[in-house]
Amino acid sequence: MLLRVSTLLLRTLREDPADAEVPSHRLLLRAGYVRRAAPGGYTWLPLGKLVLDRITAIVRDEMTAIGDQEVHFPALLPAEPYRTSGRWTEYGDDIFTLADRKGAEHLLAPTHEELAALLVKDLFTSYRDFPVTLFQIQTKFRDEARPRAGLLRGREFLMKDAYSFDLDAAGLQAAYDRHREAYQRIFTRLGLDFTVVHAMSGAMGGSASEEFLAATPVGEDTYVGCTRCDHAANTEAVVTRAPAAGDPDAHPPIEVHDTPETPTIASLVDLANDRVLAGRTGWTAADTLKNVVLTVRQPGAERAELLVIGLPGDREVDLKRVGAVLAPATVAVFDDWPAHPELVRGYLGPQILAKHGVRYLVDPRVVTGTTWLTGANEPGRHATDVVCGRDFLPDGTIEAAEVRPGDSCSACGDGELTLRRGIEVGHIFQLGRRYTDAFAVDVLGPEGKPVRPTMGCYGIGVSRAVAAVAEQHHDDRGLVWPAAVAPCDVHLVSAGKGPQLDAALELGARLAAAGLRVLVDDRAHVSAGVKFTDVELIGIPRAVVVGRRLAEGYVELRDRAGGERTELSVEDVVARLL
Ligand code: ATP
Ligand code: MG
Ligand code: MG
Ligand code: MG
Repeated sequence: MLLRVSTLLLRTLREDPADAEVPSHRLLLRAGYVRRAAPGGYTWLPLGKLVLDRITAIVRDEMTAIGDQEVHFPALLPAEPYRTSGRWTEYGDDIFTLADRKGAEHLLAPTHEELAALLVKDLFTSYRDFPVTLFQIQTKFRDEARPRAGLLRGREFLMKDAYSFDLDAAGLQAAYDRHREAYQRIFTRLGLDFTVVHAMSGAMGGSASEEFLAATPVGEDTYVGCTRCDHAANTEAVVTRAPAAGDPDAHPPIEVHDTPETPTIASLVDLANDRVLAGRTGWTAADTLKNVVLTVRQPGAERAELLVIGLPGDREVDLKRVGAVLAPATVAVFDDWPAHPELVRGYLGPQILAKHGVRYLVDPRVVTGTTWLTGANEPGRHATDVVCGRDFLPDGTIEAAEVRPGDSCSACGDGELTLRRGIEVGHIFQLGRRYTDAFAVDVLGPEGKPVRPTMGCYGIGVSRAVAAVAEQHHDDRGLVWPAAVAPCDVHLVSAGKGPQLDAALELGARLAAAGLRVLVDDRAHVSAGVKFTDVELIGIPRAVVVGRRLAEGYVELRDRAGGERTELSVEDVVARLL
């Protein structure tokens, strides 16, 4: 491939664009990789498209290497499947919705779990058809509240999304592990410095989930890393070790109560007045019950379930926080409180929980015969801080979700947690049967009984990855692409006209014929100085300058990252580059 700057759709900018806040955005605009076309929408110029395609190719390569099969779903979809799964309301304002000419509601898909589940239901009938994993690399649409930082948060962006279908939990775990490893290979090949962190599942639902965060100060995600072991978690999902008894930091022990009867607001107020109270200093018991989350553990249940209590019309903010913390657990919303149906259908309705990505289960049984765990009153500490642990330990202790750096690591117990920032470039989830339940995806099992497959889903922000790589690979003069994703392998510059230009074009043709991607700056009316500035800005790993010394048979090889400049004969340069 040989590109000539004289004819390329490339205009580099001397000045920083006013609205570009972060380095990747600034440099990708200045170096002529992308142009803003709409709020959160970018046009890929030829150089940008080359980088995007190289990253796409690496992603595709690793996906097919683990046996995933590429499909391509439509982005414009009818609303029905998303209503069936509940995500039409869960995503809420975050999805672009539209009506067709007959008035039928549609959406531009934010991800495709529904379609993948329906496709498998459509085509597969037997347990023998499994496992299977489908993937696509496709434009996604999300009406982000704040599109920002160029490609990092677009409203239209390229994602690789994969969906695994297995018959049992072991199969799902194996698929998840396979994708986790493939992701590590992908992000390593992209030259990213990244960390795999425990994460919340968000609007996908499901239980286990991990994010791949590319470390950079401009990242929107904050995560903690341990100073001793490799434990890392998004602060949204973090679990820290509860202070030991006797520790001055320890909150009073959690008390466990058997509910005597189906609770009512009044009986809960009594209970709280009587026993323990989780709340802010100065709150009455009633205040607390309006605002707090009480946790419930069903005897014998493997996982904590949560009973969320509140009154209509207030404190969505707190719920959001609670939602963020609790997403991996199942939240039990009681739907059977005759006196207060609004608790479920109004403020605390599933739609609110769902909007914040909390997986909910409406389960009237939770109301009766359960055991309460409530946080204890601790001055200055918000109730939700006390009770939002992910795990509720049998001995009644609770793991607090609040992180302070300096907290001890929950994994090794030895190291300390430090706060870092990163960009979420990938996210993998064990979904379980949320979507196969929603669409009743059943196949015939080995014993003739129906089996319901279990799903995983695995996303990579492909366009975001372009910006993440740029964020980690630049200096004050411009981009410094890793070789694996650079738009070209070599940037040839003819410093003058006449024989220098001829020699540059000839060398370019030779390298291109040998399989290199070559950019030749063959502009006749541009000074060598301007061309050199563009070499730095565009950031192709190696440049060859064909200048005055050509008369003696020499050209200069420049290394963008290290800055070395070496004079070599044309033949030696060819040998070095090939
Ligand atoms: P974020 O937390 O940044 O909003 P997300 O958790 O909503 O991302 P997922 O639903 O996990 O995103 O989607 C999978 C991947 O798609 C993300 O890991 C991210 O790399 C990418 N992605 C998500 N939203 C955007 C966006 N608005 N612009 C670019 N890439 C995005
Ligand atoms: Mg998001
Ligand atoms: Mg996220
Ligand atoms: Mg995510």
